[in-house]
Amino acid sequence: MLTDKILNGDVKAAARLMRDIDDDAPGAAAFLKRLYPHTGHAHIIGLTGAPGAGKSTLIDGMVQCLRQQGKTIGVLAIDPTSPYSGGAFLGDRIRMQRHADDNGVFIKSIATRGHIGGLSRSAFGITAVMDAMGKDVVLIETVGVGQDEVDIAHLAHTTIVVITANMGDGIQAVKSGVLETADIFALNKADLEETEATLNDIKMMLSMRQVRENHWKPLIVKTLALRGQGVDDLLHEAQNHWNFLNDAGLKEYWIQKATTEFMIHFKRHLVDRSRSALEPGQKWQDMMERVIRHDIDPCSAAEEMVDDLLKK
Ligand code: GDP
Repeated sequence: MLTDKILNGDVKAAARLMRDIDDDAPGAAAFLKRLYPHTGHAHIIGLTGAPGAGKSTLIDGMVQCLRQQGKTIGVLAIDPTSPYSGGAFLGDRIRMQRHADDNGVFIKSIATRGHIGGLSRSAFGITAVMDAMGKDVVLIETVGVGQDEVDIAHLAHTTIVVITANMGDGIQAVKSGVLETADIFALNKADLEETEATLNDIKMMLSMRQVRENHWKPLIVKTLALRGQGVDDLLHEAQNHWNFLNDAGLKEYWIQKATTEFMIHFKRHLVDRSRSALEPGQKWQDMMERVIRHDIDPCSAAEEMVDDLLKK
């Protein structure tokens, strides 16, 4: 049984299910449902930032540190689509190669290309498999440009936004929805001259942000990933954040998390099932004719169909 194999740490079985999830193959959802009761233990850490910020160098350092602590790790790298991709993704793979023979580390990459709104569903599913495999920490790397990636940032318990001093228009380069999810800023390439100025910019930005009482106050960690410096501090703060989430009784936070995941599936089922219920009907056919004739705009047509559906 595939589920048992995965729960017993069978790497090939896990890889197969992950591929099926990513391909949206029939049957994959049923296996995920069975795995779900065995999830909820892993600390999911998202790293988001512009290409070249040093995310994969940081992840490499984090994996090394975590392994020294005896933890097992899953890494999910989300390949940025053009215009940003460049050679970054290939670089990731080569760098991570040195962990390839370590069975305490499981690495999976998925591409944004070819996905039509299914990227977050894929990412949630694959992360759940890693969690069910018993990984202590799952690291997710994204560029944080699209809506799907904002959703993925919400999938993480702890979001680290990686920035550098030489980013040009700096932190604006990161989609603002992602910026707001930052629990920790990793100010990487601390060897760059302008690092202190950038540090002050982020401090300024954070000081203007209202943090509600009993909520986590985002903080900044300087790193020099190339030499592994600051990586243990970064992990320490990520662990602090995880402890905070588990101790603070933040019901609202957990509700929001559950809602994000629920909505990904809810939207899909709602659309698929409504469509298969309505499309064969005369009302649908008539409505499409009206849209073609420009008797009605598509927005009003959709509203009318949904009103109809909800009345039923
Ligand atoms: P990613 O695209 O965000 O994953 O970035 P990479 O990890 O591939 O790093 C991009 C480039 O920045 C690589 O050439 C790294 O060697 C370099 N880099 C990473 N960390 C540092 C750092 O702390 N200082 C400097 N100077 N370069 C770094």
